[in-house]
Amino acid sequence: MDWGYEISKTRGIDLDMVDTSLFEKLVKKVPSATKCIQCGTCSATCTASNPIPFSFRHCQIMFRRGQFENLSAELDTCMLCGKCSLACPQGVNTRAVISTMRLLLTDMNDINFNL
Ligand code: SF4
Ligand code: SF4
Repeated sequence: MDWGYEISKTRGIDLDMVDTSLFEKLVKKVPSATKCIQCGTCSATCTASNPIPFSFRHCQIMFRRGQFENLSAELDTCMLCGKCSLACPQGVNTRAVISTMRLLLTDMNDINFNL
């Protein structure tokens, strides 16, 4: 029956089923990645997010959750200018986090995981 609307797909995830292996590799290389409190200051000050939609905070959340779809393309938006590193209240090495996430996702693609 056509009700004239659709119910949105749930965005809920089962955290016990999340593959955190890539995030664990990230933390080994950049320990400050665990200090993020998702405050969003980095996204608010981001140079790249002004002309186009881009959020480092969003990228981090997706990476932690093991949700990698379209993440490489979003991360490529970052210019590694480092402004977010200066603004972060937790001292997260944001540029290193972004670079390492890019590398880990590239490695993952190279060995043909389904993304
Ligand atoms: S500013 Fe720092 S603590 Fe806040 S969301 Fe960004 S990386 Fe995380
Ligand atoms: S390093 Fe990347 S995420 Fe951080 S402010 Fe610059 S463009 Fe934005």
